[in-house]
Amino acid sequence: MSKADLILASLDGFDAARFWTKVTVRQDGCWEWTGARNRDGYGVFGCKGQMLRAPRVAFALSRGRPPKAIVLHNCDNPECVRPWCLEDGDQRQNMADARARGRALGTRKRVLSDAQVGEIKALLAKGVMSNRAIARQFSVSPSLITHIKKGRVHR
Ligand SMILES: [Zn+2]
Repeated sequence: MSKADLILASLDGFDAARFWTKVTVRQDGCWEWTGARNRDGYGVFGCKGQMLRAPRVAFALSRGRPPKAIVLHNCDNPECVRPWCLEDGDQRQNMADARARGRALGTRKRVLSDAQVGEIKALLAKGVMSNRAIARQFSVSPSLITHIKKGRVHR
């Protein structure tokens, strides 16, 4: 465990109180960190001499343990600290998700909503419908379904 993770594993009620007072609820439901930011613009929480990334602290406080690897955001807002928006993930999964979204949504026009991409992924995971049948249902090309399946980026 890294030094930062050791601190995350031993956060106490005092740290929690200090952390959550620097969080506000946004209109879209996500929680925004209003505390310090590092040079790269990421929200950080200073604790026991370390600058901890705010979403990792929120994860640790709500789960009682540090994240296994990186923290994924199911709301697509990488700075969000709302516990229900945070998931355990590894780097590979995160990149595959980002690629699938990039391909499905395109850079100009949103062909599919995030929810629809989620539905397509669920259908693919079940394996009961062909790519062509799924494509027809969502009025997109079968190759787009293949891209979502493989998590490929294509700009
Ligand atoms: Zn969120």
